[in-house]
Amino acid sequence: MADNIRDTVILGSGCAGLTAAIYSARANLNPLLLEGHEPGGQLSITTLVENFPGWPEGIQGPELIENMRKQASRFGTEFRLGHLATADLTKHPFALNLGHETIHARTLIIASGASARWLGLPSEQALIGHGVSSCATCDGFFFSGREIAVVGGGDSAMEEALFLTRFATKVTLIHRREHFRASRIMLDRAIANPKIAFMTNAVVLEVLGVESKEVTGVRVLDTVTGVESVLDTSGLFLGIGHIPNASMFAGQLDLDEDGYIKTHDYVFTRVPGVFACGDVQDRRYRQAITAAGTGCMAALEAERYLEEHGR
Ligand code: NAP
Repeated sequence: MADNIRDTVILGSGCAGLTAAIYSARANLNPLLLEGHEPGGQLSITTLVENFPGWPEGIQGPELIENMRKQASRFGTEFRLGHLATADLTKHPFALNLGHETIHARTLIIASGASARWLGLPSEQALIGHGVSSCATCDGFFFSGREIAVVGGGDSAMEEALFLTRFATKVTLIHRREHFRASRIMLDRAIANPKIAFMTNAVVLEVLGVESKEVTGVRVLDTVTGVESVLDTSGLFLGIGHIPNASMFAGQLDLDEDGYIKTHDYVFTRVPGVFACGDVQDRRYRQAITAAGTGCMAALEAERYLEEHGR
């Protein structure tokens, strides 16, 4: 086993994981980074990122991720394709089972992110980045002067719809039920906004525009009347929640009611030597820059932990 013990293993290759890799590689921890199911994380499916400091003209999400990857690589991060099947955090070093092999780690940085929940329609999947988005703060700007639809009935959908009224001429909020899950205050704000229209008891059946590679509308079913109609729109934003990629730690780490890893003092989990950063533990900010920030903290704490334990 001794040959196979790593000082630091990082799960996830998004902004948080790559930042943790840059810091821990520069601290000579020779980190091993497992890329996970969605290499590059959510930034890799975003277009122009205009709010990451240091890029006054903005930068494409995939390019930003590629730059971080090169930076992590330059200092000696070892990248490996694959993802964690199971982990045993009850023993130290921790045992990480990748299916075909087991790696042992003195410190573990979990940066496995959260995946946007999608409707799962083939047309929706085909048009991601071409008018379909799950991130209003990332992509809203591109819809200036146009009409947009948002799907969802919770706080995220209200927040997205409200944010998008800064750019769009009209935002239609499509919700599958009559009643909303959103908090009263968020719902009231949306109702009070003259640019927001509501379409309730409505389910999106298809996103139109696959052939032209540009969203032109959505085909919607009224679940009460059974009538189908087409809503013209140039964008469709999904605000139906995120799924944190933490289920493999259930029972070993504290997860909140929606499955996010609970941390204290920013990045500490309940298991000493295991740190969590980025969207897998952050349901509040969910920004590239905050993920990078907690990735940095996790690496610094991992380094400190190793020092305190004689490494
Ligand atoms: P959420 O509260 O779980 O709401 C998800 C919404 O999406 C629900 O209305 C749900 O419909 C709908 N939905 C889910 N799957 C769907 C599908 N396949 N097709 C159509 N609709 C679907 O998620 P969230 O809005 O992301 O909020 C998560 C948590 O973060 C909440 O605790 C929320 O309060 C919090 N949050 C707070 C703020 C804020 O305070 N500023 C902002 C964002 C989020 P049903 O209602 O029919 O289930």
